[in-house]
Amino acid sequence: MKIPDLVPDLVALQAQRLLRRRRVVHGAVRPRVRAGAREMLCFGSNDYLGLAADPRLIAAACDGAQELGVGAGASHLICGHNAAHEELEKRLAAFVELPRALVFSTGYMANLGVATALLDRHDAVFADRLNHACLNDAALLSRATFHRYPHGDVAALERLLAASPAHRKLVASDAVFSMDGDIARVPELLALCERFGAWLLLDDAHGFGVLGRGGRGTPSHFGLRSPNLIHMGTLGKAAGVFGAFVAGDETLIDTLVQRARPYIYTTALPPLIARALLASVEIIEAETWRRERLAVLIAQLQSSLRGGRGRLLPSETPIQPLVIGQNDAALVLGAALEDKGIWVPVIRPPTVPKGTARLRISLSAAHTESDVAALVDCVNRLQ
Ligand SMILES: *Cc1c(COP(=O)(O)O)cnc(C)c1O
Repeated sequence: MKIPDLVPDLVALQAQRLLRRRRVVHGAVRPRVRAGAREMLCFGSNDYLGLAADPRLIAAACDGAQELGVGAGASHLICGHNAAHEELEKRLAAFVELPRALVFSTGYMANLGVATALLDRHDAVFADRLNHACLNDAALLSRATFHRYPHGDVAALERLLAASPAHRKLVASDAVFSMDGDIARVPELLALCERFGAWLLLDDAHGFGVLGRGGRGTPSHFGLRSPNLIHMGTLGKAAGVFGAFVAGDETLIDTLVQRARPYIYTTALPPLIARALLASVEIIEAETWRRERLAVLIAQLQSSLRGGRGRLLPSETPIQPLVIGQNDAALVLGAALEDKGIWVPVIRPPTVPKGTARLRISLSAAHTESDVAALVDCVNRLQ
């Protein structure tokens, strides 16, 4: 018997202008990258603080490799849990001002780990409609009843929580929405969680390092503390390296170590990565100028980009999406910018809702004001 034919599916994606392609980048992540044959000014990375190629992080990783080798050799519960991981967990917990932290290999796995460790089919997850895909995957994998509420609609969430007979309840939300750049109404979400005895899994992939005092993230931005809060942050974005953490109270972390399968059944991060991250946390905390520079660049972009066909979404974070609408129109604008040597990723469904294809402009402290001026100039001319 023949294996199933995959071609029709690919042809359909092509017809809807939804086929994605990868561009090969040469060299380190910097605002100016060589992609293909040419150098491009890139507004696509999540390297918000400009740390991905920082010489101090590189040195920490190299020293780590010399001392600890390149591989962890095993999962954490077998024999892969290195002193460097242990030190990083303590440093992260102290930094985000929570009792404990657990380091995961990726943010994707951290979310899967939390949902599956805490919930089963008698329980319920409540998720914002614009959450990152991996929070949805986490909810599905947990087998809990999955409720989605309209973006930012706290009243709808309240009705769902009030009506739910579930034993354990988990509200999951991006802290900063990855494709819109807006900040969740975290104080209201947390108040509801406290009232209904639910956990709030706050996915701070885009807030950690960027928001809050010394870059502590979104809970610090709002000045929030609560036993109901589970603070998840990723370490491959503003922190410039790789990995993720979940922070919370003792029993939460103990439970994750016992029950989170994406933690237990996978090889530990290379300990050299933990060394690079320890260096990164120091810089995140100390170098306030990086967040100040981002604020300057964000203000510059917002005040100079003219509304043409596109609409810049209201966002106070480095994620500044220019919504175009149709896939074709967004691709045409993306390609025209590319012709001028400017690379802004075009984001299409299913990553964003249908009819809201956009250019996702992301700013970094490594950009200069003349970089932003070059982008604005091009977009204003082309629109
Ligand atoms: C990037 C991202 C993740 C996944 O993190 P990785 O470490 O890249 O796996 C999770 N949640 C959100 C909101 C993200 O933007």
